[in-house]
Amino acid sequence: MAGDTTTLEGGCLCGRLRYRLERVKSAYWCHCTMCRRASGSAALPWVSMAREDVAFISGEPAIFESSPGVTRRFCGHCGSPIVFDMAREADVDVTIGTLDDPDRVSPTHHIWVSSALHMARDLGEGLPRYDGERPSDP
Ligand SMILES: [Zn+2]
Ligand SMILES: [Zn+2]
Repeated sequence: MAGDTTTLEGGCLCGRLRYRLERVKSAYWCHCTMCRRASGSAALPWVSMAREDVAFISGEPAIFESSPGVTRRFCGHCGSPIVFDMAREADVDVTIGTLDDPDRVSPTHHIWVSSALHMARDLGEGLPRYDGERPSDP
């Protein structure tokens, strides 16, 4: 991942926000309670980026200051979480799930596992899996 010069693009669910990323530095899963609430998901995968390598190419994100100096940028229309920005850090994080081609990055580690939900520790390993919708009961 380090030194990757690939340009990646992504956007929110409704398409009003579009962004472009240069040089992904790393990718990881976050299990903290803040990411859980911000996303509504059991855990949230992120790419870490130098702040100057993240550009919004259409739309203006809404901003929520979740703690002093910590902002989360999201689509004010459809709600997709996009950027986590801690002012005192050089890097910002962008949600992998909003990339156009999320499989181009691979998380290499998990953080805040001390807060991880049981269901997210093994991602439901052993549960039945269906390619699409769950077939209706016979
Ligand atoms: Zn949107
Ligand atoms: Zn988090």
